[in-house]
Amino acid sequence: MAGYDYDLFVIGAGSGGVRAARMAALTGAKVAVAEEDRVGGTCVVRGCVPKKFMVYASEFAHLFELAEGYGWSAPQSAFDWKTFLTRKDVEIGRLSGIYATNLQKSGADLFHGKAVFKDAHTLEIVGKDMMVTADKILIATGGRPLIPPGLEGSEHAITSNEAFHLPQMPKRIVIVGGGFIAVEFAGIFNGLGVDTTLVYRGATILRGFDEDVRNHLAEEVNKRGVRIIVGAQHERIEKTAAGLISHLSNGIAAPSEVVMFATGREPYVEGLGLDKAGVALNERGAVAVDAHSRTNVDNIWAVGDVTDRINLTPVAIREGSAFANTEFLGKPTTFDHDMVPTAVFSQPPVGTVGMTEAQARHAFGKVDIYLTRFRPMKEVFMGAQDRVLMKLVVDESTQRIVGCHIVGPDAPEMIQLAAVAIKMGVTKAQWDDTCALHPTVAEELVTMRDKYVQPSLGMG
Ligand SMILES: Cc1cc2nc3c(=O)[nH]c(=O)nc-3n(C[C@H](O)[C@H](O)[C@H](O)COP(=O)(O)OP(=O)(O)OC[C@H]3O[C@@H](n4cnc5c(N)ncnc54)[C@H](O)[C@@H]3O)c2cc1C
Repeated sequence: MAGYDYDLFVIGAGSGGVRAARMAALTGAKVAVAEEDRVGGTCVVRGCVPKKFMVYASEFAHLFELAEGYGWSAPQSAFDWKTFLTRKDVEIGRLSGIYATNLQKSGADLFHGKAVFKDAHTLEIVGKDMMVTADKILIATGGRPLIPPGLEGSEHAITSNEAFHLPQMPKRIVIVGGGFIAVEFAGIFNGLGVDTTLVYRGATILRGFDEDVRNHLAEEVNKRGVRIIVGAQHERIEKTAAGLISHLSNGIAAPSEVVMFATGREPYVEGLGLDKAGVALNERGAVAVDAHSRTNVDNIWAVGDVTDRINLTPVAIREGSAFANTEFLGKPTTFDHDMVPTAVFSQPPVGTVGMTEAQARHAFGKVDIYLTRFRPMKEVFMGAQDRVLMKLVVDESTQRIVGCHIVGPDAPEMIQLAAVAIKMGVTKAQWDDTCALHPTVAEELVTMRDKYVQPSLGMG
């Protein structure tokens, strides 16, 4: 690293950056990381982890109902938002501390402050009056939420960042968006007893997911009490003495105390000085990289959400790890972005891996579909109307399963294991050869014998 302060400088101590920094530092390389906020990044501080705690907290309402159906006389239950927030923040603080300690144990230096490029090898740590040089630089600055610009009254709206710290729980909330974050928060607030309205400009929530999943989930979420307004968008947000009013394009005026936008995220490159280093962005405003996460500048790489490939924590970690393997451990590695399982922690949750039916039809022409809908026994017992959806998408010519989609209890847990077999190229016959495990919800996955014919395509 002739003449440089560090062999590697990582910008951003989130999922991707921390993994890369630790792996590189453990080889004996001189590594530093800059973090302008809290160590751990979006996932730990304002994403997956606190979100999952909120999902857990909100699921109890349904569990109390179930318990009564099973003969329990539940004591009068009440939820205290402030108690939950305090405990959640203690746990997030603990996890963030573990991330910082692990970085330090690996031998990496940590700078608290915003790092800004001065040139391709030099960074300023803003506010610290400090310049640092490095041989290699990894951009791992993540993404951030986006409120559509120009919307009147948008200054009264919040994003997921603030939803984790609301001073009190609202009585009513309007959540804007149809993606996974919007749907998850709708389930959270609805479960916590907040009157919840989801407003989405498209025809069905969860764009990009399988059509059957989208329709099924919309029905189930609606059954649980979330009001879904589709085909409409905000024209303005009015602040009144009583709260906020969302004026929608379909003429509806929806009152609430909180309006939360979950309408998308953007790669976080603002103020990073990428122009000083000559780093190019792609048409989506993300740092453009190749399969090795190399940018157009030969000593600069980028991983995670700032590259806008698949914006999930395990993907950022694997991209960071592939970078460190290649550049510091002498093991050239790329991360395979195919067959990445994903979940929506909605209520009920979704687990999905591989292609949607539409993608598979486009790719292969002919596909076999296996689909089942049923009421899970835990809920049937008390007469609940919740239904599970399971769907397998099979390439007709090779009989390989190329997509698996589940909506129902424990769908995320099931899909992680299904993904192992599907990524290995399992055929439908091999899948069916696996004996069912009874009585479970998951057993229905291996007992779908008959091809599904859509009602509209039926013989009658
Ligand atoms: C509400 C929500 C829920 C989510 N749920 C899930 C989930 O259930 N499962 C899942 O897999 N993914 C989930 N995600 C996505 C996941 O959080 C991200 O994909 C992941 O955190 C990306 O990691 P990263 O390393 O790219 O960036 P991040 O984790 O965002 O880390 C980037 C870090 O860089 C810092 N930084 C930025 N610029 C600078 C700078 N110039 N100088 C110094 N520091 C800087 C930031 O402060 C941040 O700490 C969720 C995201 C959100 C918002």
